[in-house]
Amino acid sequence: MPAAARGTVTVNIDECKGCGLCVESCPPKCLELAPELSAYGVHPARYTGHDCTGCGICFYCCPEPGALTVYRRIRAEVVPELRAVSNQPSAVSSQLSAISTSITGAEG
Ligand code: SF4
Ligand code: SF4
Repeated sequence: MPAAARGTVTVNIDECKGCGLCVESCPPKCLELAPELSAYGVHPARYTGHDCTGCGICFYCCPEPGALTVYRRIRAEVVPELRAVSNQPSAVSSQLSAISTSITGAEG
């Protein structure tokens, strides 16, 4: 069974200009230009529906603010940690840093 996608992406077709930069930049090639024209007469980008890693590269390549939104899946085991610090604002920053390290596997 294939692994679950680690992310997903949505396209606001009212902001997308159909330039295709996101399509070209996506490492797993999970974006494409739709065959249909938008109200602005361009072929807007769309998510194929599988393999997004949530890397965010498409977001940073897109010249149109608000055209792309990337969602990154968070492992279920970190959610209780977030809840535990939600009432302690001063602890949130350091806890999120630790969780981020846990997610990425990065060393201090
Ligand atoms: S977040 Fe990464 S993997 Fe997902 S669509 Fe964008 S470039 Fe592709
Ligand atoms: S980079 Fe942005 S404007 Fe260009 S096709 Fe992708 S979503 Fe649309």
